[in-house]
Amino acid sequence: MTTQEGGCLFQIGYWFYTRTCLGYIYHRRDVNKAREKYGEGESHSVIQTKPYNVIQTKTYNDLKITPVPMSLDNLAYVITDGKTTVVIDPGDPEPVNEYLEKNNLTPDAVLVTHKHWDHSGGNSEMKKKYRKIKIYGSASDNINNVTKVVVEGCLRNLIFNVLKSLDEIIYLQHWNGGHEYASDNLEFACHVEPSNEKAKEKLIWVKEQRLKKMCTCPSTMGEELTYNPFLRTKEKTIMVAAGALFEGEYKVPDDDARAQALFELRQMKDKYKYKL
Ligand SMILES: [Zn+2]
Repeated sequence: MTTQEGGCLFQIGYWFYTRTCLGYIYHRRDVNKAREKYGEGESHSVIQTKPYNVIQTKTYNDLKITPVPMSLDNLAYVITDGKTTVVIDPGDPEPVNEYLEKNNLTPDAVLVTHKHWDHSGGNSEMKKKYRKIKIYGSASDNINNVTKVVVEGCLRNLIFNVLKSLDEIIYLQHWNGGHEYASDNLEFACHVEPSNEKAKEKLIWVKEQRLKKMCTCPSTMGEELTYNPFLRTKEKTIMVAAGALFEGEYKVPDDDARAQALFELRQMKDKYKYKL
């Protein structure tokens, strides 16, 4: 869904999208549009000759992470170590189940990042198909069919925790997005930090990948730190772009200032191009 955030029409549309079955209908319409565009049934996700359908599993030690393309530009993830299998955001259960069945995997849990139907639209199907499955989702997000509620602190604590985890997550290696949004995100990165050569190089690579209908996820955290503005609030260029003023020698700002910059960047991004 693309629109300008904050406008009256957006507010009304968003309410209907998240609170009523109209949202689910809208989501299914997107799924069907994708089927028309990319082909029916199993060709939607697995056959490698169809556009946007190349499934690439990455293996890290014993862990296999597979982005499963679905709907128009969404990605679900199947993560397994051979014993435990977890699915993230099965917005469209069909391509996810097709992948699970082909690989003889039975999911133990679903993790849902947020309530939007393109991420949570498959919850009820997953629950019906895998009776013992646990579905985890945020307590504050009113996600459909959740069986295990995850409680976070208030938004401010969440922002600080996010900052802390982003600083620490550098030790984890890879970054996986829920949508094929790399091109839009890198255009925004170039807009915020026009002097960033890494962002420009990555954008060129992403456009080449997408021309070949290849997935652009995952990227490495090391890479993201060089061009992703949301991970770069230690940098002066990003802080200045987010409206901070500095005099004299530059010192890495404190958590308050960096949290403020994250809010500003989010607003800039929403104005730049808003996608759910
Ligand atoms: Zn989404």
